[in-house]
Amino acid sequence: MNFNTRLLHEGVKKEPNGATFPPIFQSSAFAQESAEDLAGIFANKKMGYCYTRVANPTISAFEERITKLEGGIGSVACASGMAALSMALLNILQAGDEIISSASLYGGSIDLFRDIEAFGIKTRYVENNNWEEIEGAFNEHTKVVFAETIGNPCLDVTDIDKLAEISHRHGTPLVIDNTTATPYLVRAIEHGADIVVNSSSKYINGSSNSISGILTDSGHFKWTKERYPVLGEYIKYGPFAYISKMRSGLYRNMGTCLSPFNAYLNVIGLETLGLRMERQCSNALALAQWLEENYDDITVNYPGLKSSKWNGIANTILKNGYGAILTIRVGTKERAFEIMNKLTIPYILSNIGDTKTLVVHPSSTISLHSTEKELADAGVYDDLIRISVGIEDVEDLIADFRTAIS
Ligand SMILES: *Cc1c(COP(=O)(O)O)cnc(C)c1O
Repeated sequence: MNFNTRLLHEGVKKEPNGATFPPIFQSSAFAQESAEDLAGIFANKKMGYCYTRVANPTISAFEERITKLEGGIGSVACASGMAALSMALLNILQAGDEIISSASLYGGSIDLFRDIEAFGIKTRYVENNNWEEIEGAFNEHTKVVFAETIGNPCLDVTDIDKLAEISHRHGTPLVIDNTTATPYLVRAIEHGADIVVNSSSKYINGSSNSISGILTDSGHFKWTKERYPVLGEYIKYGPFAYISKMRSGLYRNMGTCLSPFNAYLNVIGLETLGLRMERQCSNALALAQWLEENYDDITVNYPGLKSSKWNGIANTILKNGYGAILTIRVGTKERAFEIMNKLTIPYILSNIGDTKTLVVHPSSTISLHSTEKELADAGVYDDLIRISVGIEDVEDLIADFRTAIS
């Protein structure tokens, strides 16, 4: 089956009473027929639900669809993308461990990596796709490698195959944040990623009506007790070690579960992910090309443009398009603000992946807490506007930008 068919029919279970959509099980706990049944569920000896912080049928329906879509063996849905990323890393890390991460990251992830230093976990930043620097960053403490498929807002594209090859040679799993690309553009597991994280608040939900995140385990990484002692007794589950420890450990105990209602909204959004991405990517390419062709004093950054440093890698890694985010540099911060204020269609807000076009001035908002070095690494400048392109008719977007710029 192809992508859109799979969205509608893969990972889909029979629902009660022939319902064609998963009902919202807005219930905190689930009663069993007998004390033995409940004891069996608690001991992981019987399938079933006991408490929504651990698992819930509506949330499972969302998780199973994403597992199929990303091509993994299991997923865990969380209250936000940041929660999913925290869980993905902390599930295997302990004090003294190190992360090697691309320096081109979403600002919230940089903030998180700073926070977990207090728990003895250090991050070594490297230039994305700089293989020599990446090789040099490994040491005996390195336990995870991390990058975004398309860096937000730098829009660099990660050569996932190459990064996975290097990580694996050093006995280290690769975690990929696939939020900006989505499985429509790339199934990171097929390129060697071990764990994939998506902020489903963005393209997967699609309409910005709920915050959520989800991580998917490929089941490919060979965990060992020696290198990952925190996996403890779960090592015996082999390929399921990581996901079982997550569900029975950190996820349950830190309480990062998703609300069943938000899971329901995500399943609605997911059905149209392919259609929306197709339109959003083609709109983004058309807008980027039009801006580049028509304005000598505006620099356009979009992986789909020949002028992008990452166009070559994008062509080998991404399928079906180049994503729906572009950035433009307009000369000064004042001009950036002026253009944003004159636009009538886009919303001025800090989000991506909505059906509606969104604009933001990163240096005064999402990157406000970044250092000079972090700003440079993330490709953030004072005159930069980030545009998350929606599904509007592109002629209207172009007309709106033409008026605002003039
Ligand atoms: C938004 C975003 C996140 C965080 O997701 P939330 O759902 O807002 O917590 C992580 N990574 C990337 C690339 C994002 O764009």
